[in-house]
This record gives sequence, structure tokens and C-alpha cells, in this order.
Amino acid sequence: MNPEYRGQLQETRFLNEGKKYYVITLGCQMNEHDSEVISAILENAGYSPVLTPEEADLIIINTCAVRKKPEDKVASLLGKYAALKCDNKNLMIAVGGCMTQQADVARYIKERFHHVNLVFGTHALPRLTQLLEEAMRSRETVIDIEEEYYSSRENLPIAHSKPFQAWLPVIYGCNNYCSYCVVPYVRGRERSRSFDEIIAEARSLAEQGFVEITLLGQNVNSYGHDLPGNHTFADLLTKLNQVDGLKRIRFLTSHPKDLSSKLIETVRYGEKICEHFHLPVQSGSNRILQKMNRRYSREHYLDLIKTIKSTIPGVAITSDIIVGFPGEEEKDFLETIDLLEHARFDNTFSFIFSPRNKTAAAALKNNLTHRVKEERLQRLNEIQHNISKAINCLLINQVVEVLVEGPSKSNPEVQTGRTRTNKLVHFKSSSILSGKLVPVKIIEPRTWNLVGKLEGEQS
Ligand code: SAM
Ligand code: SF4
Repeated sequence: MNPEYRGQLQETRFLNEGKKYYVITLGCQMNEHDSEVISAILENAGYSPVLTPEEADLIIINTCAVRKKPEDKVASLLGKYAALKCDNKNLMIAVGGCMTQQADVARYIKERFHHVNLVFGTHALPRLTQLLEEAMRSRETVIDIEEEYYSSRENLPIAHSKPFQAWLPVIYGCNNYCSYCVVPYVRGRERSRSFDEIIAEARSLAEQGFVEITLLGQNVNSYGHDLPGNHTFADLLTKLNQVDGLKRIRFLTSHPKDLSSKLIETVRYGEKICEHFHLPVQSGSNRILQKMNRRYSREHYLDLIKTIKSTIPGVAITSDIIVGFPGEEEKDFLETIDLLEHARFDNTFSFIFSPRNKTAAAALKNNLTHRVKEERLQRLNEIQHNISKAINCLLINQVVEVLVEGPSKSNPEVQTGRTRTNKLVHFKSSSILSGKLVPVKIIEPRTWNLVGKLEGEQS
């Protein structure tokens, strides 16, 4: 941590000693990681975490802007938290992240929800403690949505939410401007973290006992293009594969237009690099892909899938799909279904198109009723569920390596963990196995998860 920042934290610590905070996170893994940074900043400044908003002196909502649903959730949470201010006059409420990075949304929150003390954007984390102090003194909602694309986050602390798995961002922002997506507007242009800083952070995580790291970026494949030295994402993975102590390396998300054969080979031969690609296709229709500005064709995508599957034995591929994009006709949708049947993904995350402010697709004529979109989503999900179940059935009687995450929430006698291919496995064991890699024989494959039996343990 840089000494200047440490000094600021020590001063604010005095002010906040004994105070409690509660952070609620909406959205993607990058947001989860940002919340870990927010938590660490608050803890260094004297706050301690609590499990419910009712106990808190400070509530922070870390928002998502990708679709309307998580935005609506913020309004409902803010309505609920207004009542808590009646019982605790000193309660501070802050709203941050992707949704509030948008100037019109920040203004709307200030005008509509007077009980909000602070509204901050995705670039404001290094200034969070000063902003909270300012908000404490101010009678008005404080807003900070400055766009400081090149402000460093390297010196910010992290409170890891899991003891042996860590997120590790490698590239921030996005340059792709897919026509439906708000991310480039709220996360800024692409900024790769330095090669050496990432390696140093991975080594430090391994020394602290973390066994699995997940490299994060909106498009990890474009890592390095803005750095001196021609380092590619494949080079980064190769180097990380040599870090002692790490057992598993994951990464997401891969953009199909930038996925290189060198990367596929690197995953094939890097023994710590997990055999899983999250490779969002979005649509199986070339006409719609073009309107989405995805810059690849269904043919290119299916070729990639073929190469990945033929190069990496046992690989899992997951994807994202948008249905009901403006202008999507039944025949476009049928091409998406056809792609699903050819690609045979292990799983997909499918969404109904949600028009987003500023994006090119928001201006396109939306030709479909909500009922048609819902019906397409349901048809797609049904087909995918059958494929997922069929793929999981191939694992019956196979012994897989599971990284145990801990006892199941609903049954403490059942342990849960994940395979290298990111599949959830449940198995019975009375031993404490959290953080360990164990062999599990699959005895009951299901659509969403697998039930197994711990090898070597008597039942
Ligand atoms: N960077 C990743 C990529 O290019 O695939 C994904 C980022 S986005 C946070 C996650 C997923 O949300 C996307 O893959 C897309 O399927 C979905 N998504 C993004 N914008 C959307 C919108 N306006 N409506 C519906 N789904 C959307
Ligand atoms: Fe959004 Fe496209 Fe960037 Fe992914 S690649 S974050 S979908 S603009």
C-alpha cells in the first residue's frame, strides 16, 4: 500500500473506530472483486463488517448496469433502506459502481432518494474514504463520478471473501462497443495491468495460501495490447503456471474474435490452467451478430469450438446468449438454437435483450413483444438443459479432481466443490476438507451439478 494512502487511512480510522459496514454486491465477478476492495478500504479505515443492513452504520450498494433488472433492484433496496434511517439517524447510505458511473443516473438518485449520502462511480475507489468523510459533513448527497481512466488501483487493499480462491483482475475496461452493451461507457477504455505486477500479486496470493486464482477481464484475450513488451494473455498464463503454490488458474471472459490458437495450446499444456472457456456467442445468426457489432461469424465461432474441443481433452465451454435483440426474427432465433446444438455447451447464461442508455442498440426498433422474448428464452433454456444433462451424464463413474469449498449450506454433512471444468460437485464426508483437492467419483449426474463419492473414504 502506498505510504500516502496509508497515512490518510490512519487519520480516518480514528473517526470510524467501532462503526459497522454492510456491502451488497450486484452483477459480475469484477463487481465482486471491487466489493472486496471496498471492504478492505473500510476495514483499514476502522469499520468492521456485519451480516445484515439493520446492524450497519454504513450501507454500500455496489451496482450493475448491464441490464434493467439489477437497476430496478437498486431502487427497491433504496426504498427498503430509507426506513432504517428512521431507527438510526447516523446511518450512511452510499451507492456506487457501474450504474452510478452514468451522470444521469447519479443525478436521478440524488434527486429521487434524498436519504442517499454518497453516489460514486467505478473510478472513485481510491478516493472512497475522503468521499465518505465529505458525505458525513455534507447535508447534501455527495457525487463523484470522475472518469480517471489511468488512475492506478495497484495500491488499494483487498479483503478476500474466500480463504483459498482469489479474483485477480488483469485488464480493466473494454474497447469493443458491442452495440447492446453499456460496459465500455461505465468501465472506460481497456487498461492492462503490468505483467510484473500481476505475477507479483499471484506469488503473494500463493504465499498467503490461495490455491486457485481467477484472472478477470471483460476480454482477457486482448490483455497486453496497450503495454510495452508485446506480452500476450497466453504469455501471462504461461508465466503464472510457474508460480509455486498455486494449484488452479481460471480466467474469464474470452472474446471469440481475439481467441488465439496460442492461447488454446497454452491451456492444453499448462497443468495448472483449468480446462474451461467462457466464450460468449450472444447469437447464432450472422445478421444479428453483425448488428451486435461482435465482429465474428457463426462459422468462425463454430470453428473455434471445434479447435478447442479437439485440442483440449475434457474441456468445458460455457457461453452467454441474448434473445430478442432488435430485429431478431424467428429464423435468426432458430440459427441460435442450431448453433447451440452444434456447439454443445456445458452451460449457457441467457438473457432477454435489455436496452441500455447511450448504446447503439437502444436506438434500434424493438420489434418483438415481451411474450415472444420470454417464450424464446424458455425454448432456448429447455434445449440447453437437455444438452447440459447429457454432457454431465458422460461423467458417470469417472473420478474427477474437486477443489472443496466447504460444507453445503443446507446440509453440513455434504461438502461442495468444483471440478477443473467448473462443475459443482456435492459429496458426503465428515472430514474437514475445505481448500483441499480431492478425488471424487461421480455417481449421479444432474443438469446443474454432480453428486459424487469421495474416493478412499468408507461410507
Ligand atoms: N465481456 C463479456 C463478453 O464480451 O462476452 C461479457 C460482459 S457482460 C457483463 C455479460 C453478459 O451480459 C454478456 O455476455 C451479454 O450476454 C449480457 N448482456 C450485456 N448487455 C446486455 C443487454 N443490454 N441486454 C441483455 N444482456 C446483456
Ligand atoms: Fe460488453 Fe462486448 Fe465489451 Fe463484453 S466485449 S464488455 S459484451 S462491449
